[in-house]
Amino acid sequence: MEFRDLKQQYNTLRAEIDMAVNKVFSNTDFISGKEVSELEQQLADYVGVKHCISCANGTDALLLALMVWGIKPGDAVFVPDFTFFASAEVIAATGATPVFVDVMEETFNISPESLTDAIENVLREGKWKPRAIIAVDLFGLPADYEKIRTIAQTYHLLLLEDAAQGFGGMIGGKKACSFGDIGTTSFFPAKPLGCYGDGGAVFTDNDEWAACIRSLCVHGKGKDKYDNIRIGMNSRLDTVQAAILKVKLKAFRQYELERVNAAAKQYEELLGKTGCRVPAVPNDFCSGWAQYTVVLQSEELRDRMQIRLKEKEIPSLVYYKKGMHEQEVFREVRQYTGLVQTENLCKTVLSLPMHPYLKREEQERISEVFRKELC
Ligand SMILES: *Cc1c(COP(=O)(O)O)cnc(C)c1O
Repeated sequence: MEFRDLKQQYNTLRAEIDMAVNKVFSNTDFISGKEVSELEQQLADYVGVKHCISCANGTDALLLALMVWGIKPGDAVFVPDFTFFASAEVIAATGATPVFVDVMEETFNISPESLTDAIENVLREGKWKPRAIIAVDLFGLPADYEKIRTIAQTYHLLLLEDAAQGFGGMIGGKKACSFGDIGTTSFFPAKPLGCYGDGGAVFTDNDEWAACIRSLCVHGKGKDKYDNIRIGMNSRLDTVQAAILKVKLKAFRQYELERVNAAAKQYEELLGKTGCRVPAVPNDFCSGWAQYTVVLQSEELRDRMQIRLKEKEIPSLVYYKKGMHEQEVFREVRQYTGLVQTENLCKTVLSLPMHPYLKREEQERISEVFRKELC
């Protein structure tokens, strides 16, 4: 059994993907070929924003957003403690101070109460200037943007949606990557929409920021690549990756997103009765299911479950073992709010196989292991 079955996905889409990459090989326009702009247009239409700028990976996408906003030393940027390292790494990379915020036990996403608490405490201390919030759509579920947006407005903060795991998620009819002032995603192979290497994208409705990000991606170009008007970087999506993504986006829209949601429903039925906590999806929310993550009653039980699954050759992973504040490099970073939920989740979460090609029999085998151990 595969944790995320990319081989089966390739076998399904093989004819179309091979044709698409062969076309790029013959045209040899490996950088900035027409597939790149075509993909960007399709992604912008799907997400429902004006601009999509593709780039080299999801980490660069976040960094580009912070760069265009001029985030700098002395600024504070709020980020959930329970996330992948890159969400916080980019803040430190600009020289700004990451402020870790606790998450909600049920959704794993940033807690509005903890966020307000952290902002108030930073303001009270007066050492850093609050500038932005990075909200993460963890495991595919959009964060609570209605509440977060209100907080951003109250304190005049910019809102960045890290939808690296969130592509395909929705609140009402509105799609992930459209909830922030800027939204970003990643096309790392194991993400909901993955390419065959690294890739990422930035989404925004703001014309000025979009133009600036396009420049930042190509060495701060002005009129052309050899006219340089700002310090940027080299961060582009290859034409080959764009060609692959165009095929995969079609499958994602036609059936993949639907299938992961059906698989989640199956899991809920099968595992709900065994006593582990299955992921909550609030009313009106839709997840892209980057991960299917259950919560066990204790660390000891979680670790034992993982061993039992492994005995049956079922892969499982712990996302994440450490909160940001527990990472060695952030040890000295001051904490402005309690981070108890993150600490608890790090001990009790377990992510199970999840992808559009997961079979009902495989899910039954997994739930059998849970039933034996927990019931
Ligand atoms: C994967 C991920 C990123 C970084 O994306 P890369 O393409 O690997 O650079 C950022 N944030 C979150 C939450 C992620 O899961």
